[in-house]
Amino acid sequence: MDRCDLCDSQRLAPVYQPGQTDQRIYVCRECGLCQSLPRFRQPEKTVAISGDANWGNIRIGKGLRVAQHLTWLKPLIQPNSVLEVGTNRGAFVRSLLKQFPHTLIDAIEPDTRLKPALQDLNLRNLWWDRIENLALAKHTYDFMYCSHTLEHLEHPSSVLCQLHEALKPDGLLFIEVPDLAFIQRPDVYEEFFIDKHRYHFSKSSLIQLLGRTGWQIEHWFADPLQENLSVLVSKGPRQVYEKSPGPEKDLFASYAQNLSDNRRTLRARVAAMPTHQRCVSFGGGRLFDIARRYGGFQPVAVVDTHLARHLSELGGIPVHPPQDLARLNPDLVVLASRGFVSEMERIVREQLPEVAIYALFSGGNNA
Ligand SMILES: [Zn+2]
Repeated sequence: MDRCDLCDSQRLAPVYQPGQTDQRIYVCRECGLCQSLPRFRQPEKTVAISGDANWGNIRIGKGLRVAQHLTWLKPLIQPNSVLEVGTNRGAFVRSLLKQFPHTLIDAIEPDTRLKPALQDLNLRNLWWDRIENLALAKHTYDFMYCSHTLEHLEHPSSVLCQLHEALKPDGLLFIEVPDLAFIQRPDVYEEFFIDKHRYHFSKSSLIQLLGRTGWQIEHWFADPLQENLSVLVSKGPRQVYEKSPGPEKDLFASYAQNLSDNRRTLRARVAAMPTHQRCVSFGGGRLFDIARRYGGFQPVAVVDTHLARHLSELGGIPVHPPQDLARLNPDLVVLASRGFVSEMERIVREQLPEVAIYALFSGGNNA
């Protein structure tokens, strides 16, 4: 019988079934923590991108967050001895060393396929393992960075206790996880509950988990994308969890309705695109995947800053870096993004001052 990772209760109520997966989403009616069951780990798949629960395995989201995090953290931390949990392609470590060249960094990354990407890094230790399997030295670090990792762990509470022991008494831990509040947005197209995430934290359930494992909040950061919970914590007294029924089933039902309504309207949005001969999509991520599969969107090419390094095509459509835009000679550029529309528009205008631009996910025609 499955038990809640935070409070050990068996009162796990099913609230939502994502499409294209066997995973189901539950809320613990004792403490309110939202979690996916069964807690199996997806077998590794081929390189792909999906807007549904089967998400694919190109992990570039973490790297995209680093610049924002360092802007927030730079005035608040003194990173002499640092631990990164889930170092991925090393984006954080690289940027941190640029700004603090004398920092001693230990990094943990379970995915050995990333070895080539990390081999040039100047680290004190690099452990190719899951954090649960490691014995960390006590009171070693003055700063720890754990971005988009906690939600993947089988038992986040025990890992938070493990980190607590390894941190110096006056040290700080930065955590970022996807915010469950995302499902209340009107403009959802991509599945929030992806297979790789075992936990889905709201602000209150994250506070409860942190309190129970001996952490106190130092600072919340406001994510301009409104997609993440980003928090700096320090060691504090261990709290008991407060009883909470968590989010109502209705919330998940309206999310499901919204998701399916929005996906249905995509066909009309694609049909309403300005007349064109050669359409190029700027953005090849999860939203593009949704537009292609649910909206019938078929551009002649995709440009994408990050994906072009990892893929040559998406569903048969060639993928290029954005600097190829002018050479692709489009008469329409479609922005397949929600958060980066103005940044994309600027890049397009640098190369193609006159081309028609259409923001597919934020209401259509742009100037
Ligand atoms: Zn619970």
